[in-house]
Amino acid sequence: MAQELHYNDFGSWIKAKLPFKVQKISINAGFTCPNRDGRISYGGCTFCDNSTFSPAYCSNNKSIKEQLQEGKMFFSKKYPEMKYLAYFQAYTNTYESVDTLKFKYEQALSVEDVVGIVIGTRPDCIDESLLQYLQQLGRERFVLIEYGIESTNETTLKRINRGHTYQCSKDIVQLTHDYGILTGGHVILGLPGEDRNSMLKQADDISRLPLDLLKIHQLQIITGTEMAREYQEHPFHLFNVEEYIELLAEYITRLNPTITLDRFVSQSPENKLIAPRWGLKNYQFTNLFNNYLQQKGIYQGQKYCSFEHINS
Ligand code: SF4
Repeated sequence: MAQELHYNDFGSWIKAKLPFKVQKISINAGFTCPNRDGRISYGGCTFCDNSTFSPAYCSNNKSIKEQLQEGKMFFSKKYPEMKYLAYFQAYTNTYESVDTLKFKYEQALSVEDVVGIVIGTRPDCIDESLLQYLQQLGRERFVLIEYGIESTNETTLKRINRGHTYQCSKDIVQLTHDYGILTGGHVILGLPGEDRNSMLKQADDISRLPLDLLKIHQLQIITGTEMAREYQEHPFHLFNVEEYIELLAEYITRLNPTITLDRFVSQSPENKLIAPRWGLKNYQFTNLFNNYLQQKGIYQGQKYCSFEHINS
């Protein structure tokens, strides 16, 4: 018998949105990032090594269509009836003129069985003309924008060279939601300088945002990044699995129960990962986490307070 989940899970959420089995296919659409090309900085976020979040089929030497066809071939052997979401994942997928963006998104949507797009981007790299277009597109196809929020703490955002503020994340999440576009956020737990209290406060901050989806990741130190250098020079604490599960459980008790949780861990390639090395696959971690929530009787939103009520 399937285990009852103690939080809103992505699988059930997407099932309610789309009447078929869907799989995201990550693509690299050849964008860059203003935090790497010099518009904001050349260094990038200190934790970032973009190559760690692109699977092998996702190379920008290949066209968007080719990448999607290859992704489809991989998944359709097992599930011929599968439909797909093109996941614009690598770098900043709204960092171009609106005409170029439209061309790339529509190229993806022209591939057979691709029923929607997921667009990963920075909160400071999107304007209203693009939101207007995506609002229109979202009336016919599945459209989700995922913003890298990373932290709600302004000091942390500076320390990791994020190049935008939390205020910027708040504003764009609100605006995207006001346009009626599905809105996701991504945060990292364990960033240097953040203690347990500040990470739990983050859950309260995130709960005030009109987010449909949230991805939560543990901090990973990746070879060649600025953070790897910082970690090697002045090591800071990284979670072991048990600590992370305990913190994450407490975090979700404070989360707004209307938000759906997309994932809880990041899994970087073994050859790139310095620490922490948990040796767990995504599903293995999720099983451990689900068992912990069951044993402790912990649910998403148990300790959530409505801030509208508190602030009024
Ligand atoms: S995490 Fe995103 S915004 Fe930061 S440097 Fe990497 S690609 Fe750019």
